[in-house]
Amino acid sequence: AKETDKALGKNFTGFVTVKGAREHNLKNIDLTIPRDAMVVFTGVSGSGKSSLAFGTLYAEAQRRYLESVSPYARRLFHQMAVPEVDSIDGLPPAVALQQQRGTPTTRSSVGSVTTLSNLVRMLYSRAGDYPPGQSIIYAEAFSPNTAEGACPVCHGLGRIYDVTEKSMVPDDSLTIRERAIAAWPTAWGGQNQRDILVTLGIDVDKPWRELPKKERDWILFTDEQPVVPVYPGYTPEQTQRALKRKEEPNYMGTFSSARRHVFHTFANTNSPLMKKRVMQYMLSTDCPNCKGKRLRPESLSVKFAGYDITELSRLPLKRLATILQPYASGTNTIHKKQEAEHPEQTIVAQRIASDLVARIKVLLDLGLGYLSLERSTPTLSPGELQRLRLATQLHSHLFGVVYVLDEPSAGLHPSDTLALLTALEGLKKAGNSLFIVEHNLDVIRHADWLVDVGPDAGQKGGEILYSGPPENLHQVQNSKTAAYLSGTAAIHEQKPRTPTGWLKLSGVTRNNLNNLDAEFPLGVFTTVTGVSGSGKSSLVSQVLVELVAQHLGHDIPAEEDEGEELERVILPESGGQITAGMETIKRLVRVDQKPIGRTPRSNLATYTGLFDNVRKLFAATPMARARKYDAGRFSFNVAKGRCENCQGEGFVMVELLFLPSVYAPCPVCQGARYNAKTLEVTYRDKNVADVLDMTVDAASEFFDEEPNLQRALTVLREVGLGYLRLGQPATELSGGEAQRIKLATELQKAQRGNSLYILDEPTTGLHPADVEKLLVQLDNLVEAGNTVIVVEHTMRVVAASDWVIDIGPGAGEEGGKIVAAGTPAQVARSKQSKTAPFLKKALN
Ligand code: ADP
Ligand code: ADP
Ligand code: ZN
Ligand code: ZN
Repeated sequence: AKETDKALGKNFTGFVTVKGAREHNLKNIDLTIPRDAMVVFTGVSGSGKSSLAFGTLYAEAQRRYLESVSPYARRLFHQMAVPEVDSIDGLPPAVALQQQRGTPTTRSSVGSVTTLSNLVRMLYSRAGDYPPGQSIIYAEAFSPNTAEGACPVCHGLGRIYDVTEKSMVPDDSLTIRERAIAAWPTAWGGQNQRDILVTLGIDVDKPWRELPKKERDWILFTDEQPVVPVYPGYTPEQTQRALKRKEEPNYMGTFSSARRHVFHTFANTNSPLMKKRVMQYMLSTDCPNCKGKRLRPESLSVKFAGYDITELSRLPLKRLATILQPYASGTNTIHKKQEAEHPEQTIVAQRIASDLVARIKVLLDLGLGYLSLERSTPTLSPGELQRLRLATQLHSHLFGVVYVLDEPSAGLHPSDTLALLTALEGLKKAGNSLFIVEHNLDVIRHADWLVDVGPDAGQKGGEILYSGPPENLHQVQNSKTAAYLSGTAAIHEQKPRTPTGWLKLSGVTRNNLNNLDAEFPLGVFTTVTGVSGSGKSSLVSQVLVELVAQHLGHDIPAEEDEGEELERVILPESGGQITAGMETIKRLVRVDQKPIGRTPRSNLATYTGLFDNVRKLFAATPMARARKYDAGRFSFNVAKGRCENCQGEGFVMVELLFLPSVYAPCPVCQGARYNAKTLEVTYRDKNVADVLDMTVDAASEFFDEEPNLQRALTVLREVGLGYLRLGQPATELSGGEAQRIKLATELQKAQRGNSLYILDEPTTGLHPADVEKLLVQLDNLVEAGNTVIVVEHTMRVVAASDWVIDIGPGAGEEGGKIVAAGTPAQVARSKQSKTAPFLKKALN
């Protein structure tokens, strides 16, 4: 307490005082934390850090803000997000920079998120070089998303879509009856078209390539839609006879050429699956009018520094800054001449360019110089996106606010952590407070104040173990964080293993990788390291996954919502092949951080499959049998058993004016999701909604006599998810939690060996103590005869791996090479590797 008094008196200007916080698992806690300081919240996953930082402090700040805006919003938010807390004093307004949970934001780019694109458009409009005679155009006309700017041929998409004979008839040795026209619908729709062709006298039993070209073209491309009599089940001869006799047809069928079918379906279907199906038959090519640049010619004719605006937007930010710098400082070579000729334009150029340079510098400092303005945000990692938002805030000149951040170090190489800390310092110096949930020990050490929550997760957590300057945490006996911060925690030990073989890739080309050769050892645990943007994901999560999947004949694991977006389907230019090592790989398992579902309809229990067993238990109870309720009755996705008002979602969507729409609990079932009849059925005195409300830990105790459920529940606890509720909607899970659920789902399957596991930063969101647990699981996989490859920044994990592949040396154009490969000890000795010094520290 004395230490705290000293700190209280000495360094801080004011305090936020929380009394009686009870949100989620918080145990009625009181807390005093400084303002205008960097406060870091630590503790194992599920201990209650987010419930405190986001669920209590941020939620309360936001509630107060809304209270001041509109009674309508107030009412809704009263239902929604009033934190369970007695009082909070001294709380400034808050801005949350949270990692993406659940649904991703709508389509945007680096330029739009940072608002840099607006400035660049202004630069082109006001200070660009126009061709002689062309009048000035407005800034909006430099955006492909406006009618003024979009290329009229491709409507701003940059690509046009077409079909060809080859794309719609992949195998021309087949006959029409054998489904030569793959682009036509399957099942009845396709038979219907075939029967129509029979009526039209076309030979559907001749190989496609032997049909006359004119006939083939008509079938594939015509816009005519003749309506003809159809006699299903008749042979061609019988059909012709029936036609002659004018026999009453079964029905009249309408012909639709394959092209018409593809385009019509693409434009009109609401089903992403249908859309995806027809898209296979469409070829996309750069728009001939704008050459893929998405803008109308007038806009593209305006240049700055010799580039049109699209070219400029495709440069890495680092290059962009170099190009703009001379304009910002007025030292570009043609400056003097320009200044004399167009003084006004020169001044405007200088003003905008220096603003741009200053803002881009912040992005470079945060290690994001390899991104371009055009890069679309869905292709960024959550950590990159959060740092982009952070950089934008650095320039907003707000002061007196609290920034609440969720693991800003995610995705950051240790060599970039310093830059992050400098950026955070910048926000603090400008007069703001920082509340940060973080696991990275370097960030934790840098805090002015530490709040350690614990000791464990869920019901076994929710207490404040420590609140004060980081130096004194070590005095706290039951803090899991303390041991790691002081370096006394035992490090995961494992004897080095030797590879059973090598998986060899050659000629890998993708993003910043150019004709790269790479070798991954089999039967061991490999980590792939390198600064952010060096090419780790391009190599591992993209090319390696695709090539192995292709080899195994799997579909490439596709984006769930791909059909919605044209651009995402276009795979970047790529090359590469596997030259050895596939003999023993039977299965590819990719465990990523993508959400396990985008609606509250999917949850932990449904995703892992354990809910199937729960429903069977309920269906087997005497009451369920007497009432003839089957297992389906206990699914909230089926009409019989669910609450009809919310259709089993437990929530209803509320649209808010000017704000993102929110989910509010269903007023009929109060969030239970089921109708009253279903809830009358109980198993050991609990109904199915009660079970969904249990944590994994609680369920494990409750179902102690059910081996099928135990197996799934045990692995979930082993990956550190015992604190999650079975019915916790997918939309409430963090990327790290989603990833661990996927991992647990894999682990509960019988271990067959010969699988290749690929993970991208699995430690995100994990306390060092949880990282230990994860390492044990990964080890088990390897011991069972599998291969594990992990993209990773946490040096403790890298040090514990059998083999390290370090990519770099830098990011973007300056990366893409294998700098070092070998055992951790070997890579730690590399002179070129930026990872080496950090790895060396972790090995000691
Ligand atoms: P941390 O941030 O330390 O990982 P959280 O604050 O997210 O922990 O979780 C603390 C506890 O609160 C956990 O038991 C978790 O399952 C529970 N919890 C988290 N979010 C919710 C929610 N929306 N509703 C109910 N319980 C929740
Ligand atoms: P890392 O995983 O090491 O952070 P990435 O493989 O994600 O690196 O990125 C390597 C380079 O490729 C960077 O310059 C990045 O901007 C670029 N890149 C990665 N993914 C895409 C993409 N989907 N579209 C365009 N460029 C990309
Ligand atoms: Zn175009
Ligand atoms: Zn309901």
